[in-house]
Amino acid sequence: MTTSPEATDLVDQDAGPTKRVLLAKPRGYCAGVDRAVITVEKALETYGPPIYVRKEIVHNRHVVDTLSERGVIFVDETDEVPEGALVVFSAHGVSPAVHDEAAQRNLRTIDATCPLVTKVHKEVNRFAREDYDILLIGHEGHEEVEGTAGEAPDRVQLVDKAEDVDKVEVRDPSKVVWLSQTTLSVDETMERVDQLKERFPDLQAPPSDDICYATSNRQYAVKAMAPECDLVIVVGSQNSSNSKRLVEVALQAGASDAHLVDYANQIDEAWLDGVTTVGVTSGASVPDVLVLQVLDHLAERGWNQVDEVTTANEKISFALPRELRKDLDDNPDKPKGVR
Ligand code: SF4
Repeated sequence: MTTSPEATDLVDQDAGPTKRVLLAKPRGYCAGVDRAVITVEKALETYGPPIYVRKEIVHNRHVVDTLSERGVIFVDETDEVPEGALVVFSAHGVSPAVHDEAAQRNLRTIDATCPLVTKVHKEVNRFAREDYDILLIGHEGHEEVEGTAGEAPDRVQLVDKAEDVDKVEVRDPSKVVWLSQTTLSVDETMERVDQLKERFPDLQAPPSDDICYATSNRQYAVKAMAPECDLVIVVGSQNSSNSKRLVEVALQAGASDAHLVDYANQIDEAWLDGVTTVGVTSGASVPDVLVLQVLDHLAERGWNQVDEVTTANEKISFALPRELRKDLDDNPDKPKGVR
């Protein structure tokens, strides 16, 4: 029997198929998450604990637990922050009402909202000023969506599931625009847009993509490797929108199985039964140390060969929030822990 070169590469006649890992690149921290985490770390160093953070600074359990151990107190709402204390707003953004509440309680604030979320807030404001009805495609209850919709609650309608499209009511079908959450599935969003266009043929698109570069790049990398994978492991937390989308995208792109885990020890041994190729990636809020632990876990079980699948090289970074930069510039030698 003639064996094709491809098959020879993958099959050792004695040991069976070669176990291998395909590691997606880009994966993990995006520029907005990096900035938000560094903001809290610098705030801790500059002002000393406790630092209050409204909501999870980024949607990752490990990051939140680590910062909590260093003196960060995570709260759900600003009314849980003592009068006059310092509060950091998370990368997902907040509505103007939250800024107002903080001002009423005399809180000092540092806004770690990702600049790409702020961009969508500005779009909402602009289209609301021009008297458009704004159809915001996003997940109901997600913090980012609450913040974005809160910029113009009278003008924004949320479109989450397909059935929401029929519920939309607009004042003037010629003045309707769609915007979106930054961390959605690219393909699913375009499906929703097509459905909306059937109802509103004059529907306008955002001036530039609302789904951010990090979300789309991570989805693209997963799509590239998924068809070759018997299993894809996505490192990320259950409340991380972009991480959950990576699981869905992997399955849609042809992976036989896909799961989301916070930590390597959550990998169920049964998932690995009969598996040759494992794809590994991580959401935009995940530090790479957690991915390395997954690779170690797999190596201990025979998946020693790791091939990186690179579909983009990211070089984006964002400056720290102005409020923090000012204090760092004014007092670069301020001793750690001194208020
Ligand atoms: S996922 Fe995108 S929008 Fe969200 S923090 Fe990262 S870069 Fe910003």
